[in-house]
Amino acid sequence: MAGKVVGVLALQGDYERHVRALDAAGAHAVEVRSAAELEATDGLVIPGGESTTMLKILHRESLFEPLRAYGQAKPIFGTCAGAILLAGRVSSPAQESLGLMDIDVQRNAYGRQLDSRVVTLPTKLGDLEAVFIRAPIIRATGPAVQVLATYSGDPVLAEQGRHLVATFHPELTADLRVHAYFLSKL
Ligand code: GLN
Repeated sequence: MAGKVVGVLALQGDYERHVRALDAAGAHAVEVRSAAELEATDGLVIPGGESTTMLKILHRESLFEPLRAYGQAKPIFGTCAGAILLAGRVSSPAQESLGLMDIDVQRNAYGRQLDSRVVTLPTKLGDLEAVFIRAPIIRATGPAVQVLATYSGDPVLAEQGRHLVATFHPELTADLRVHAYFLSKL
């Protein structure tokens, strides 16, 4: 991991907190807004935010295809909206995605009353405080996907080869274990 540069897609959403978390976990984190900046990194975090808005900006900046190609060679960690972008299939409503992980994701799936919450979550990385904000639910996972944590029976932290997704926000707590785990994949 030493000397590795980790990009954080900085088009929209809470990318600054990821930069801080990655730096604190020992990486060199940089904000990514162009294909040239993307190419200079060894791994990428796609933050939470609004996946529909991110998609629009990705197309406007001609970053959608470069990002898909990048994910075929290098690790991506998607949190919340980032997990929606990495998914194979997206519903509620359906929208385009990068198709880099074999997961089916339903957006805003916990409903209005449970928009946001903090829970103590047992995971394969140990117990974590997990912050959910208008989170998607991972409704199905393919055979290549390893589930690292579930909440109410649904996967909330999962990996497939080099890629990792969380439907919660590890960048909003001081706990660096999820970011450190992603860095271990670089
Ligand atoms: N609801 C958002 C979406 O559908 C995701 C929310 C988040 O990233 N905190 O893109």
